Amino acid sequence: MRRERAAQQVSALKLDACLITSLHNVRYLTGFTGSSANVLLFHDGNAVLFTDPRYTVQSKQQVNCAIHIAKGPLTKSLMEEVARRRISKIGFEPEHINVARLEGLTKALPARARLLPVGEGMIARQRMIKDDGEIALIRHAVTVNSKALELALKRLKPGMTETGLAAEIDYQSRKLGANGPAFDTIVAAGKRAALPHARPGSAKIGPGMVLIDMGAFCDGYASDMTRMVHLGPASPKYKRAYRAVLESQLAAIAAVRPGVTAGSIDRAARRVLKKHGLEREFVHSTGHGLGLEIHEGPRLGQNDKTPLEPGMAITIEPGVYLEGWGGIRIEDTVLVTKDGCEILTPTSKDLVEV
Ligand code: ZN
Ligand code: ZN
Repeated sequence: MRRERAAQQVSALKLDACLITSLHNVRYLTGFTGSSANVLLFHDGNAVLFTDPRYTVQSKQQVNCAIHIAKGPLTKSLMEEVARRRISKIGFEPEHINVARLEGLTKALPARARLLPVGEGMIARQRMIKDDGEIALIRHAVTVNSKALELALKRLKPGMTETGLAAEIDYQSRKLGANGPAFDTIVAAGKRAALPHARPGSAKIGPGMVLIDMGAFCDGYASDMTRMVHLGPASPKYKRAYRAVLESQLAAIAAVRPGVTAGSIDRAARRVLKKHGLEREFVHSTGHGLGLEIHEGPRLGQNDKTPLEPGMAITIEPGVYLEGWGGIRIEDTVLVTKDGCEILTPTSKDLVEV
């Protein structure tokens, strides 16, 4: 089904085939999870997966299209197939190929054949709308992520380092069956929470705020969540800022429904922070799609015109960052549904003081 839909695009572009070089797109179209493969997707929906002898057994187990195990370079096998089928117009994914590879392919092309870039994100656009199988996998990744946080927080004690808590989160997540973190787990204590993408370091946690941003890959699909924990009693300033960010996050979630643009969700989040005088402290976009990759389309930025559609899995994550003080971000993974959205993340968003 995924291949047929992608093939319709290949056909609409009047190409004979499209060369898929992104491993995520290879996985999406064929189920193959190995580290080296290309797919030749034909306009009629047929496909051939090219990989090397390390994946002879695995490819047979995972893939339901033709498989070609290349004894030498993949390029050589690919071009033999192109020549054998006498095809001439072959698309390629411009954002998933480097100059050297493209030159190598171009040199090896049979006489009549040409390589043509397909519009950026041909498969990525299709991947924005998750099918039922993908939604089930994202739900599972989200559940594992929330459970891992719950277990890790039981071990949190004042004086623990940021890296210590990050390691605990990753350990719990793995024990629950995750393939690994969906990105480097962020644990930022106190003033360091003002860095939206802080790397955990040797800083000790507490007393004060700690920002935790974490995700798990389960069966290849990502989850993403940010929560705040406050060690000891929180100051009125922290409580005010926390409530403002939560109000902003809830307003953005309330705005999610099919037909509205991704940008309108971002603006809904910003409007609330502006009311609290915090709009300048919100320095990133409101969220992003996720799936086989932690960052996918749509991007929930101010000017993004992509209309939301049922089946999109997105994050909603407004935040405020004050240099010398700290930062607050609250993030859920959300599914766009027929009549609105469903918040997948089960973890509470009440202000936590421990
Ligand atoms: Zn995140
Ligand atoms: Zn995120």
